[in-house]
Amino acid sequence: MQVIILGSGNPLPHPDRAGPSTLVRTAVGDLLFDCGRGVLMRAGAVGSGAPALRALLLTHLHSDHITDLNDIFTTRWMMSLQPNPLPIYGPRGTADVVRAMEAMLEPDIGYRITHHDDLNWRPVADVTEVDHGVIFEEGAVRVTAAPTDHAPVRPTVGYRVDEGEHSVVIAGDTVPCAGLDELCDGADVLVNTVVRGDLIEPLGLPRFTDVLDYHSGVGDAAETAARNGVGTLLLTHLVPPPAPGTEQEWVDQAQEKFDGRIVLATDLLTLEVGD
Ligand SMILES: [Zn+2]
Ligand SMILES: [Zn+2]
Repeated sequence: MQVIILGSGNPLPHPDRAGPSTLVRTAVGDLLFDCGRGVLMRAGAVGSGAPALRALLLTHLHSDHITDLNDIFTTRWMMSLQPNPLPIYGPRGTADVVRAMEAMLEPDIGYRITHHDDLNWRPVADVTEVDHGVIFEEGAVRVTAAPTDHAPVRPTVGYRVDEGEHSVVIAGDTVPCAGLDELCDGADVLVNTVVRGDLIEPLGLPRFTDVLDYHSGVGDAAETAARNGVGTLLLTHLVPPPAPGTEQEWVDQAQEKFDGRIVLATDLLTLEVGD
């Protein structure tokens, strides 16, 4: 299994950091977690892409995590030579968002079906709203969801992928909580989104300080990893993006609470999990 950070960024556009999205490559295909800005450009860099995704799994419906949902949906349709429904898993509310996206694309769907003789089917999303428990199992791969705490954004979920003896947890945006602990129990890798209050508070801008109460700080993520016996903590969705040369500060802060391996995400960073 591999974990590839396709986007390590946050809602603010950044030249080197695409929006939040993480690819987990498994024996049964590529699982894409969230689909932030630029995700398919990054997926192209690692030989993945919309037609090949085994599933798209959304942690929540904040815009930065779903900006490119329409791109994945349309590109999968256009690049597939036969009907290729996109399996989408996400919290309650996902089906409404997907329906609204399809409505937005209605003119485009009409143009393309009219223009291409060999394209006589519509794009299809197979949406499953998830909450808690195993959401799919195929071969040696099992994916489990659990509720997280990103209040007032509700509901939100995190995911765990198990393949044989190995496991990866995608926390999404959350503060430490019981659901995340449950997913993290003994996991090889925890991918946790983080914000730095010590860098944001001095700015004194309410629009930024507001985000502190519903995200994990670096220390929070480290404590979650330590409490649950995680092997590697991968910090992503970095707010604010680290200024060049300050990356070690993030690792040092995490190290105060966690003595496992700590990795700071950059786009296309790849971790091998297990053999
Ligand atoms: Zn969020
Ligand atoms: Zn976010």
